[in-house]
Amino acid sequence: MAENPKYIFVVGGVMSGIGKGIAASSIGRIMKSKGFKVTSIKIDPYINVDAGTMNPTEHGEVFVLDDGYETDQDMGNYERFLGESLPEINYMTTGRVYTEVIRRERNLEYKGKNVEVVPDIPLEVIRRITEAQKKAGADVVTIEVGGTIGEYQNIIFLEAARMLKQRHPRDVAVVMVSYVPVPGNIGEMKTKPTQYAARSLNSVGLQADVILARSTQPLDQKRKEKIALFCNILSEHVISAPDVKSIYDVPINFEKDGLGNILTDILGLPERKTDLTEWEAFVKKTKNGSREVNIAVVGKYFDSGSFVLADVYISVLEAIKIASHHNGLKPKISYINSKDFEAGEVPLSVLEQYDGILVPGGFGETGIEGIVQAIEYTRVHKIPYFGLCYGMQLAVIEYARHVAGLEGAQTTEIKKDATHPVIDIMESQKAVLKKGSFGGTMRLGAYPCNIIKGTVAHRAYGAENISERHRHRYEVNPAYIERLEKAGLVFSGRSPDGVLMEIAELPHTEHPFFLGTQFHPEFLSRPLTPHPLFMAFIKAAGERGESKK
Ligand code: GLN
Repeated sequence: MAENPKYIFVVGGVMSGIGKGIAASSIGRIMKSKGFKVTSIKIDPYINVDAGTMNPTEHGEVFVLDDGYETDQDMGNYERFLGESLPEINYMTTGRVYTEVIRRERNLEYKGKNVEVVPDIPLEVIRRITEAQKKAGADVVTIEVGGTIGEYQNIIFLEAARMLKQRHPRDVAVVMVSYVPVPGNIGEMKTKPTQYAARSLNSVGLQADVILARSTQPLDQKRKEKIALFCNILSEHVISAPDVKSIYDVPINFEKDGLGNILTDILGLPERKTDLTEWEAFVKKTKNGSREVNIAVVGKYFDSGSFVLADVYISVLEAIKIASHHNGLKPKISYINSKDFEAGEVPLSVLEQYDGILVPGGFGETGIEGIVQAIEYTRVHKIPYFGLCYGMQLAVIEYARHVAGLEGAQTTEIKKDATHPVIDIMESQKAVLKKGSFGGTMRLGAYPCNIIKGTVAHRAYGAENISERHRHRYEVNPAYIERLEKAGLVFSGRSPDGVLMEIAELPHTEHPFFLGTQFHPEFLSRPLTPHPLFMAFIKAAGERGESKK
């Protein structure tokens, strides 16, 4: 343990979407690879108390932690890069911080004094940061401040950084992730936007210690010196951060410019070697795939205007990629909007060209019948199928309708008075919904699950007791389990009390891979420890690809 805990704030200049989250994650990985205990925090400027109530097409994936907290997708990046599970205290929004301050005020905990935005809000932010540090016993805490410098919304968090630095000048570093455009008509790297961002940061009392210059190309020495001069830092502290093929290259790239030692130097930490051996071994696999594996993700959240929003399923996509790399395959992922099947615009036979079909989680009615049709196609045509949460429930519905003879089988999420409600609201969720309290009230977080020996799931996990993360309100209706089993569906994973069906599958003798999980395995898939079910799914898909040749 270092003498004092150290805090690295990661802030964004110029514009959003330039990989601040990956930068913060990479810094975490580098510091961990130096043998420091690291924990990572995300601050989001939203009024939403957590990310659970945000529409994924607007905000991207809702990432669920072990303790059930619903957070931003960056928490997923941190967990993947650190290879560790993080707790609730590591995620905060404006809404969360204000809720706590207002609760305390109502509780007379401020003892009659005026409660003010400054300093009381930043003080609560600092309290949470400190609590996260203590909880993890961290030597180094990375804190990513959402939004861009110069925005109104995140000033209060930058104020927290300033106050923390004022208290502990040697223990706080500020890393600004900036963008250096190369305008097409000029063909030259322009540093002015970064200069403005650095000055905006100065105007809230902060000075960048390090600038990560994101660009399409590596930075040359001339630009480094220009940024250094105008942004008031050492030119060695300007780190070149060009676009990369894989996000997992980023820590290695940062180390080329010596970022780790720069940070230990700024923070007065002992100098140590960065040991990225394991990480590099994985990155090598990302480049060495011998053959393509073609996976189609059939979902309903893909279109946002004329853009395809892959962020909605980021953990799913990363899990597919990670498992492909570990299987020695090159992932090729396509997106199919299930609504196209319903409209008859696209024939189901397009599925034939893929090696595996995955249906991720989701909510509500749109696109659902198209997904059920797609699942039927994969079952009948023996294309490897992997269903996550809604993808499992819809596979059960498909099986009920077409094999178990339960015509009109449906989830009560869509049809309250379904003839055969094979998926129904969980008992524990009924009262919650009646009250109309939606935020943070689903079945959330890690629960234990028992795996039945000899099943596909058991072969994949190689274990009988596992734990996986959940986010749902509905479940397989216990009243239908016997009928579904008689018809050949196997519930290979169940809650320890046997009540909740956590995994549904077809035996290996019937189908190369047909499996759905009530939980979200994607949340526990990490580069250095790929998820066993994703591994099994991709392996089956790879075999289909091979046999087609
Ligand atoms: N809508 C389904 C439920 O609430 C599935 C949720 C999900 O896929 N995350 O049970």
